[in-house]
Amino acid sequence: MDYTEAKHRIEQLKAILWENSRKYYVENAPTMSDYEYDQLMHELEQLEALYPEFATPDSPTRRVGSDLEEGPQEGGFAKYPHKYPMLSLGNTYSIAEVEEFAERAAKSIDTPFTYCCELKFDGTAICLTYRNGKLFRALTRGDGVQGDDVTANARHIASIPHSLRGSGWPEEFEIRGEVLMPYESFDRLNHERELQEEALFANPRNAASGSLKLQDPEEVGRRGLFCTLYHIPTGQVHFPTHDAALQAASEWGLPVSDKRRICRSIGEIEDFIGYWDSARKDLPYATDGIVIKINEMAVQQQLGFTAKSPRWAVAYKFKAEQACTPILSIDYQVGRTGAVTPVANLSPVLLSGTMVKRATLVNEDQIRSLDIHEGDWVYVEKGGEIIPKITAVEPSRRADGASRPAFPRVCPDCGTPLVKPEGEARWFCPNTTGCPTQIKGRILHFLSRKAMNVLAGEATVEQLYNLGLVRTPADLYSLGEAQLLRLEGWKERSARRFLQSLRDSLKVPFERVLFAIGIRYVGETTARDIARHFGSVEAIQNASREELLAVPEVGEVIADSILAFFGSEANVLEIRRLQEVGLRFSVDAQERKMSDILSGKTLVISGNFSVSREEIKSLIEANGGKNSGSVSGKTTYLLAGSKPGPEKVKKATELGIEIIDEARFRQMIGWSDESMDPEPTLF
Ligand code: NAD
Repeated sequence: MDYTEAKHRIEQLKAILWENSRKYYVENAPTMSDYEYDQLMHELEQLEALYPEFATPDSPTRRVGSDLEEGPQEGGFAKYPHKYPMLSLGNTYSIAEVEEFAERAAKSIDTPFTYCCELKFDGTAICLTYRNGKLFRALTRGDGVQGDDVTANARHIASIPHSLRGSGWPEEFEIRGEVLMPYESFDRLNHERELQEEALFANPRNAASGSLKLQDPEEVGRRGLFCTLYHIPTGQVHFPTHDAALQAASEWGLPVSDKRRICRSIGEIEDFIGYWDSARKDLPYATDGIVIKINEMAVQQQLGFTAKSPRWAVAYKFKAEQACTPILSIDYQVGRTGAVTPVANLSPVLLSGTMVKRATLVNEDQIRSLDIHEGDWVYVEKGGEIIPKITAVEPSRRADGASRPAFPRVCPDCGTPLVKPEGEARWFCPNTTGCPTQIKGRILHFLSRKAMNVLAGEATVEQLYNLGLVRTPADLYSLGEAQLLRLEGWKERSARRFLQSLRDSLKVPFERVLFAIGIRYVGETTARDIARHFGSVEAIQNASREELLAVPEVGEVIADSILAFFGSEANVLEIRRLQEVGLRFSVDAQERKMSDILSGKTLVISGNFSVSREEIKSLIEANGGKNSGSVSGKTTYLLAGSKPGPEKVKKATELGIEIIDEARFRQMIGWSDESMDPEPTLF
């Protein structure tokens, strides 16, 4: 490679790595395997070593990937600096390089030392600060220098203690570790998402990191996360070894894994790696390697850090497991929106601790690009461990004369010819009102927790559908106890519970009802925005395309889907029936209107408040005011919380717009003191 080529390749690698780092840390949706990413990083490191003149300080080899999201001004998290930078770890996939690490350390240190070998937990990093024995703050790694403040969420993770026990802890100290989602919680979460046709998380790591960044702490609590801690930065505690520090942390009630071992030689390290390479498959959570740390604090201090990682530790990473197995058949599954997804049935094969029998083939284009033939042997990998993905075929094992699978042109369930709307990669069954799978899928969605939250599952829906008792959600509300008791498997208790939860669903607010009726592309958040914007189903139904597009977050695809939904007579009739049984199809007058005090006034909010920004915005609307995102001549007040955006404050001052604080706002709308409790009674 010549000089110009090297320069070009370095630029290219930097761009690829930063882009994939963003997908991995911010979007939680990586499109490249960790192994591929690490190989590219390695290539960049080598090129930068050969051509140091091209190694800029912003290179991914010198900075940790950032998970930072938008700041509080944009509705995101507050950011706080870490007391000590949160770095990454040097990593390798080769035992020989672990040996080199040990040799290097031995050469530069003349006192004997040991290693503390630990599992490398595959979750998302967290830094907890305890002050006077109480959890004070929880930050994500962020960009290593500052992190997102996720304290409210951390308080809903059961294994993170709010208070320490015992004695001897420093007045204030940071402790770091990982937030993980066990396989069981992950499967449950993805199953729920699948039912709602929401994008699935690729693996427990992405699910853990996405969950830790939710804006709803109670939902975080429901996600079944747990935390394990593995590092107290030196300078705050004084223990002779890393292991002793972890032992103390465990005595203070902090969650520390006992799966660590003090090793005295490279042989012992190799034994530990070898043992966990197979034993980890039985763990209930994901691990992606072993971390080898020099145990003696004095030696750690002597070795110090590079810009990106400590010199006293290295991570040995396990390669993603792969298996080769034949495709037995391909199913074409119809979802509640009619989308048809090809799923390969595989000859069962053991992969990272679970038996893999099925893997998605995504869509027709994917089948074509992998060049799948009937009966092909395929390589299956668990992207970051869990969801099986077909990565390639093994052409040498292809049977003579094997043909390409024929993607169906009619619905495998109801026989209706499929359609492929423009710009869609998927085929759809257009028979929305007659296709059994779609009908059952819609009813299940309607009943699901985030929609009407009715206690019923797939088996109940299947039974009620098969007996012809339920064809649309409205039919559910005419079921009676005597009728249910005549059906197989129903007891008085289950029938009453089911009917009571249907009655309870009449109280579900309009925004969730709007989500429940299953308009394509209208997810939970969009449903909320639309419900709040229009206030009633009639207003939505009568809205023009332009009026729909005026709702923030509603683009052309969503607007057209809403128009198509209300253009169907069957849907309008169903809504009328649901209205008749008493479901809420408008924002409650009381809920919506508190006063007209802000009528004709436009407010811009900025900064942090004692309640969520969403709550402040809905209070403005409930009192007749309008919200706007930017300060202009039309703004009446800038409502500034703590740390308001300096740009907004500057602009408001320039335009002579009155800046009010939360207390003044509270006074204006006659909002009682109790509702402003800065410590909501969550804990
Ligand atoms: P890393 O995940 O390789 O290792 C460092 C992290 O390990 C620490 O920050 C900590 O969170 C965690 N860890 C788990 N157990 C630990 C223990 N016992 N002791 C200490 N730390 C422990 O490094 P990273 O900087 O978080 O991420 C970089 C890696 O992420 C890359 O090597 C790559 O594999 C992956 N990545 C993948 C993509 C992709 O597109 N697939 C993109 C970016 C990054």
